Amino acid sequence: MDIIFHNEVITHEQVRECIKLLGDEYLDLPFQVIIYKDVAEVQKEWENEPNMIDRSYEDVIYHPDTAPPGICTGNPKMIRIYPFNIGVSEISELQELKFGLIYYLFHEIRHAYQYQHELFKDDTIYHPSGEDMVNYANSPAEKDAYKFAEDKVTDPFINSKIKEILEID
Ligand SMILES: [Zn+2]
Repeated sequence: MDIIFHNEVITHEQVRECIKLLGDEYLDLPFQVIIYKDVAEVQKEWENEPNMIDRSYEDVIYHPDTAPPGICTGNPKMIRIYPFNIGVSEISELQELKFGLIYYLFHEIRHAYQYQHELFKDDTIYHPSGEDMVNYANSPAEKDAYKFAEDKVTDPFINSKIKEILEID
């Protein structure tokens, strides 16, 4: 897994160590992980070198209430994490942001796993905005990814390891 970094919230090594906790089948997924710095960086990519459809960029940039903290695509094989979209209102501390980032990273990595193993491949794709919102939240792929991330971050061993890696309590 290739990790590209434009954000200083968390280090490259911390991200890699956390992904390692999921095992080699996740660490070895042929996906690129990008952790973005700010909305401006996403905007610039959309203008210069887009790698998602316009609707996805619109979801990230123009819908602050429902903006996804991450997006995974199977083509190209990319996991994008948007730390600035991680429940800004509920996050008061840097350590919560770091933990939230790992939670959403796990969620998106599960989507990468779904693509790689062709799970839910015949399901309709919904966007986390507008009239698709409810269908999106209830889709089997979403439920599976939420459950995966939740199970991992609440597993006592993994939970304590993540906190050790991120140096938070
Ligand atoms: Zn998802």
